[in-house]
Amino acid sequence: MTIRDGVYIAGEWSPGVGESAIEVYSSADESILGSFSPASVAQAEAAVEAAAAAFPGWSVTPREVRTQIIRAIADGLEARTDEFAALSTNEVGTTIGISKAVQVGLALNVLRTTADAMDALEVSEVHEGFTVVREPIGVVVAITPWNFPLHQIVAKIAPAIAAGCTVVVKPAELSSLSAIALFEVIHDSGLPVGVANLICGSGPVVGEALAAHPSVDMVSFTGSTRAGARVGELAIKDIKKVALELGGKSATIILEDAALDKAVSVSLSSAFTNNGQMCSALSRLIVMRSQLEKVEELLSAAILKQVLGDPFENGVRVGPMVSAHQRDVVIGYIEKGIAEGATLLAGGPERPAGKGYFVQPTIFTNVSNEMVVAREEIFGPVLVVIPVDSEEEAISVANDSDYGLSGAVWGADEGHAVEVARKIRTGQVAINGGAFYADAPFGGYKKSGIGRELGSHGLEEFFELKAIRF
Ligand code: NAD
Repeated sequence: MTIRDGVYIAGEWSPGVGESAIEVYSSADESILGSFSPASVAQAEAAVEAAAAAFPGWSVTPREVRTQIIRAIADGLEARTDEFAALSTNEVGTTIGISKAVQVGLALNVLRTTADAMDALEVSEVHEGFTVVREPIGVVVAITPWNFPLHQIVAKIAPAIAAGCTVVVKPAELSSLSAIALFEVIHDSGLPVGVANLICGSGPVVGEALAAHPSVDMVSFTGSTRAGARVGELAIKDIKKVALELGGKSATIILEDAALDKAVSVSLSSAFTNNGQMCSALSRLIVMRSQLEKVEELLSAAILKQVLGDPFENGVRVGPMVSAHQRDVVIGYIEKGIAEGATLLAGGPERPAGKGYFVQPTIFTNVSNEMVVAREEIFGPVLVVIPVDSEEEAISVANDSDYGLSGAVWGADEGHAVEVARKIRTGQVAINGGAFYADAPFGGYKKSGIGRELGSHGLEEFFELKAIRF
């Protein structure tokens, strides 16, 4: 076990001086991976002061220099791909192939596409009688979750520092070792001191202190709707800009004319990506009642390929949950689904034998959209199948959710599938398995959030607009 310094302020590492050390466990074998002492409120305040002191210089640094440093961070991260991928697999339970391709690969992609977006951005626009200029918003606090430890951080710090802002990052307690390692890369990238600072510690203690600090201009939060509402409340009291990326309960609609085999197998594997620990997981599968039996048959065959096991082993598709707590929450939902009368098609609440925070990949069918398992975010490998009688009902069920993050439509007629997608109130919709793009705007309607991340649209969030009139 290694003991890490979890505080990085103005280019200097130090241990946190908050109460009792936080230990990070391997999700596959429950061993202790490392620990750190959480930061104190005074350290969080010092980090904000360092970011505020660095802002005047960084905000006028030429954009070519800023984007060059972001590319240097990407290169530094890429050079340590295997180490970072193994860390994500240990911390989060992500299978190793997905850790390389997504935990690290997506973070690299986001860094590079954000640098490209900044290079291409029109910083000033000339209009008849006035010019609009984009100016960096100031000091940004970035509070992030554990499910994609690197991506969640770079999705905030890349656009912030590209825009000329300075940042304090507060990562999730459970994935702080990845955050610390990422900041080692940032330290070596040539970024001037104070532009990016790290405060590892507890959300309710240092997270709240950062969100409420008067020198902070923007709080960008990703996590649960509950914590996001609290952070938003603190930030808005002081009229800071708030960006929130929150939970989801996204739906796939399989239209009657869809290629059923492919639609079902892709829907299942995307619901279980990162072991279902994904805000945009397509965790509700809406199918025509007339096709339910066939869909159940296909799901029963496809689940056999969702092999549960050691996330470091080739061939394993579903790894463990991030923590014992998360495992227990997911098992609780499976028990709830059974109690509510949903039909268990695969999996169940029994814990697999041995060490590790494992949950059986589970499918419920004959689910009504009123059931808790159809309404609440489970954040684990649990798919619910909801039969409907028409396309209109499918759209209405998809939209009957507190959330509005993502979605998917499958249909032979692509134009018609797009018409259906336009009726779904979510920030993204994939047609026939459409890919995830690191530069497409990502974010939610309704309780899934406020604002967008990624690409040129995400970059825009980190600017103030000023109109200069003539
Ligand atoms: P969480 O809300 O418990 O924690 C997220 C972050 O907020 C952590 O850094 C935590 O320490 C901090 N935090 C918690 N309480 C706080 C408080 N009172 N004040 C300030 N900070 C506080 O979420 P989690 O368990 O880490 O992640 C899972 C949740 O995140 C799920 O709901 C998931 O949908 C959501 N999520 C959303 C997106 C998105 O882009 N929309 C992406 C990933 C995860």
